[in-house]
Amino acid sequence: MARVCIDPGHGGYDPGAVGPTGLKEKDVVLDIALQTGKLLASAGLEVSFTRTSDRVLWSADERMDLVNRCRIANQTGADFFVSIHCNSANNPDAHGTETYYCSRSDRGAIVARLIQEELVKTLGLRDRQTKEGNYYVLRETVMPAVLTEIAFINNQQEEQLLARPDFRVKVAQAISGVLVKYFGAGSRGGEPEHSEPQLVINGRVVTNVPSCLIDGKTYVELRSLVSNLGGEVRWDEMTKTIIVEL
Ligand SMILES: [Zn+2]
Repeated sequence: MARVCIDPGHGGYDPGAVGPTGLKEKDVVLDIALQTGKLLASAGLEVSFTRTSDRVLWSADERMDLVNRCRIANQTGADFFVSIHCNSANNPDAHGTETYYCSRSDRGAIVARLIQEELVKTLGLRDRQTKEGNYYVLRETVMPAVLTEIAFINNQQEEQLLARPDFRVKVAQAISGVLVKYFGAGSRGGEPEHSEPQLVINGRVVTNVPSCLIDGKTYVELRSLVSNLGGEVRWDEMTKTIIVEL
């Protein structure tokens, strides 16, 4: 049975970002995280949390805070780590949803994209895309990990949304929906917890290219695939273009 560790950002001594009316990030993300966990558990996945209340299990120290979150994820043997946050910027007009992954994890990148797509589809906020993020919790967790920034709590309109129970339900449904699809419902039994097709290139079984099957579509990590074919993938940041040379 797949295990997911959910990390509601901040908590206890650390309120996270605070909205114009005083809504605290730590309270919003805890509610969303608990609902996400409930949905995952009811679909048969095993769920652990870095915190389940406003109490954190560590002292008021930002570094120990992050170290402990990763320790919990790593010790529970989670297959996937999802950290839930609200965004904040100096610009009060900044808005939208974005999701981060760690560069070394192809699987993290795939799931980050699926979560981002689902959140954008469900919430209808601006698509700020998935991004590589050098966050401690993404770097120091040993399993694929994503960090999602649901919306900007410092933006007046988005703070209002984040305060709404129905909005939070939608977020939890979007995140849990993707993870259940990806890891497969544990209650269904079945050996492979998520469907991982075998890849054969020119008659050779290739095991170092992450791939998965979701809703009948096959996702294969492009860079590994192309390098197995002897080619090269480049990314042009300016034009957001993937350039494949074979
Ligand atoms: Zn945060």
